[in-house]
Amino acid sequence: MDFQLNEEQKMLKKMVHDFAEKELRDKVAGWEARGERLPREYVKKMADLGLLGLCLPVEYGGQGRTAFEAILAIEELARVSHLCASPVFEANVGPVKVIEQFGTEEQKRKYLPPVCRGDSMVSVAMTEPEAGSALTDLATRAVLDGDYYIVNGQKRFISGGGESDVYVVYVRLSEQKGARGIGGLIVEKGTPGFSFGKQEQFMGLRGMASCDLFFDNCRVPKENLVVKEGEFRKLMLAFDLERCGNATICLGIAQGALEAAMEYSQQRKQWGKEICEFQAIQFMLAEMAMKVEAARLLIYRAVVNAGAGLPSPLEASLAKCFANQMVREVTAMAVQIHGGYGYSKEYPVERMMRDGWGWGIAGGTIEIQRITIASQLLGRRFDQRR
Ligand SMILES: Cc1cc2nc3c(=O)[nH]c(=O)nc-3n(C[C@H](O)[C@H](O)[C@H](O)COP(=O)(O)OP(=O)(O)OC[C@H]3O[C@@H](n4cnc5c(N)ncnc54)[C@H](O)[C@@H]3O)c2cc1C
Repeated sequence: MDFQLNEEQKMLKKMVHDFAEKELRDKVAGWEARGERLPREYVKKMADLGLLGLCLPVEYGGQGRTAFEAILAIEELARVSHLCASPVFEANVGPVKVIEQFGTEEQKRKYLPPVCRGDSMVSVAMTEPEAGSALTDLATRAVLDGDYYIVNGQKRFISGGGESDVYVVYVRLSEQKGARGIGGLIVEKGTPGFSFGKQEQFMGLRGMASCDLFFDNCRVPKENLVVKEGEFRKLMLAFDLERCGNATICLGIAQGALEAAMEYSQQRKQWGKEICEFQAIQFMLAEMAMKVEAARLLIYRAVVNAGAGLPSPLEASLAKCFANQMVREVTAMAVQIHGGYGYSKEYPVERMMRDGWGWGIAGGTIEIQRITIASQLLGRRFDQRR
């Protein structure tokens, strides 16, 4: 077992670190205050640096590296802001992976190269108003009619909603109940019958698009079926990589909060000395560092073990669940170390705390991850309905 990055990985990490520090850091507070999206010019720069499609195959415009390299890049960008990490997240470990792993050759040729060039974003649409944690209750229906699926239904809280060009939509393809009837359909923005609701106003993650999707007799070409009925498991397997990406954004945010707290505690003086000289502050810093490092190891293990494929559900859930809790605790301690200034928008840690919170809801809540972990440990399924 080797805990060192190789030379190429070190170079990649440094390159992304420098890009984030030099080009993004001083603009983040303004984007957040105005609730702005990450300007397209930076998405294009990320594409030029090869960060979009880092772990997508070379023949579709990617870099052909493993998801671990993508994770290293996401961590460095999230250290500055979730907004900076989001294009690299979406273009490597997001639903684009469903297309790469399970799509037809035509689908891969059509949808992957624009993602790598920064010309297209892919979102995942699973959640519905009445199907959140109980995802397999989803009711959005796709009925085959000649060469088209006719889609009707509504999706909720879709990250990238309204902004993304392509949506991997979980749909019910037959009357079969539960997971058995569910498959995945690629729906392009602009398809007649497909529209968007108002943008969400979340507590954090400002600048990230999110809204409801509406399908009203939306006609989707039948060749857009990416995962057929009865293969719900495939959708979930690909989603385990997205969960590692979610965990990595938590890791990056928490690392950023730890660094901010370390710096502040060595500048701020009370009682005539730097506050880092108080044991209470030292204990908080030590606690933060332990949690950040533990999350990093869980994430790295899950992703390194995945190689060029997909992670094990147990390792992905352990990493996500731990990192989701960890970022809430670490950012809260960072706010505490900053005293009243931490509670002020003049300092970045309150933003980190708000941004960090949402990831323990997105991608399956902390509670649902715990159920998955127990189920994997015991080798049993626990029916939540009985
Ligand atoms: C920032 C953000 C981004 C998101 N992005 C997307 C996206 O891109 N695509 C998408 O499809 N969805 C997205 N979601 C939706 C997200 O996946 C759901 O919000 C989540 O799965 C929970 O569903 P719910 O909100 O309906 O809560 P509910 O399922 O109603 O849960 C409410 C509470 O009950 C708990 N609970 C539910 N069932 C159980 C149980 N069996 N045992 C114990 N506790 C339980 C939950 O853990 C939670 O605490 C996003 C959400 C957020 C906040």
